[in-house]
Amino acid sequence: MVREPVEAFIGLGANLGEPMAALRQALARLAELPYTELLAASGLYGSTPVDSSGPDYVNAVAWVRTRLTAPALLEALQHQEASAGRERPYRNAPRTLDLDLLLYGSARMEGPTLTVPHPRMTERAFVLLPLAEIAPHRVSDAELASVQGQGIWRLAG
Ligand code: ATP
Ligand code: CA
Ligand code: CA
Repeated sequence: MVREPVEAFIGLGANLGEPMAALRQALARLAELPYTELLAASGLYGSTPVDSSGPDYVNAVAWVRTRLTAPALLEALQHQEASAGRERPYRNAPRTLDLDLLLYGSARMEGPTLTVPHPRMTERAFVLLPLAEIAPHRVSDAELASVQGQGIWRLAG
């Protein structure tokens, strides 16, 4: 636990099983994390796999305020993925739930198990569009322009 709460952004994705239900449940579970408050969640987006394969994805971004350290938050996210049936048969495999720590305050860290900001987030429309929906100040016009043309659409609800 850290003394001062930190605002963090989490990227959610799924393309196996029931992705929309999995993301809604994941958002509900984020709201229940200890020492953590869910401040906002984007709507759900559909996207075509970029680095990954298989069916189309459902994506969203959540904004939390947390007293968990970044490693503790990542551990909680991985626990949540596991309980949603996440398997990692190979890199970028289709998945029932993926929770990436995108931003942790203004922290920059690079380690064997955790790099923040998430190193590939600015290449991905499925991260930047939902992030811009809830926190436009965290995404620049140039970043949005650079992912134009990637297949992403807003889902109902
Ligand atoms: P990508 O990271 O390109 O989105 P992925 O989400 O499919 O790919 P995973 O298999 O979910 O990759 O994660 C691989 C490892 O990435 C995890 O074991 C975790 O330790 C590490 N990792 C490093 N930085 C982060 C981060 N900011 N958020 C989530 N995982 C991270
Ligand atoms: Ca990911
Ligand atoms: Ca991940």
